[in-house]
Amino acid sequence: MSVLAVIFDWGGTLTPWHTIEAADQWAAFARVAHADRPTDAEEAAARLLAAELRVWEASRDHHSSARFADVLAAAGVDPHEAAELAYREFWDPHTFIDPDVPDLFAALRDRGIKIGVLSNTIWDRAWHEAIFERDGVLHLIDGAVYTSEVPWTKPHPEAFRAAMAAAGVEDPARCVFVGDRPFDDISGARAVGMRAVLVPHSEIPPAQQVPVDVHPDAVIDRLRDLLPLVDTWSAPR
Ligand SMILES: [Mg+2]
Repeated sequence: MSVLAVIFDWGGTLTPWHTIEAADQWAAFARVAHADRPTDAEEAAARLLAAELRVWEASRDHHSSARFADVLAAAGVDPHEAAELAYREFWDPHTFIDPDVPDLFAALRDRGIKIGVLSNTIWDRAWHEAIFERDGVLHLIDGAVYTSEVPWTKPHPEAFRAAMAAAGVEDPARCVFVGDRPFDDISGARAVGMRAVLVPHSEIPPAQQVPVDVHPDAVIDRLRDLLPLVDTWSAPR
């Protein structure tokens, strides 16, 4: 039974992991939002960081999602276009696609295999699509689910089913999921019946980890190592 789709996690998978200081992204936002009052900026940044941590706790414990706007609202901070731009500029250098991806996507498409993305994220689709567009791969993606648009986060099975629907496939046994997190990605994908491949290079923050006894179908060092695996799984037996 050949592989019909490969669905990828984003952070730490399609884009190599960068460890950032979580407080710095909110300081970048608040500095612009409260340009005239540095004390207000510091307080707002602290509230935003606390609100974001609660979002990831809810994702970890309840597999429930949130949006960027929800973080602002929870922190009592008004939306601010220029501040949002400063936040996105802070992230920009940490979002570049893994150099293996363009060739990998092209090779998968040559084989008629669909390409999906499923990311636990508070960011809008437009932000993610701008990043993929910048890196020249947006047109190669058949369908993506950003959890800011749905009620659940990985490892909730509905998140994986939504990603399959977005990629245009129905049979999880003919899907391969690729991710960097044993709990969110590997346990979630296997629970819905997908094959799961771990790329184990990310330094996941301890607060976001959940110990899980799960065995990926494969562990790869580089994304380019995925192709021979997919070919093996697609070969007639
Ligand atoms: Mg990830």
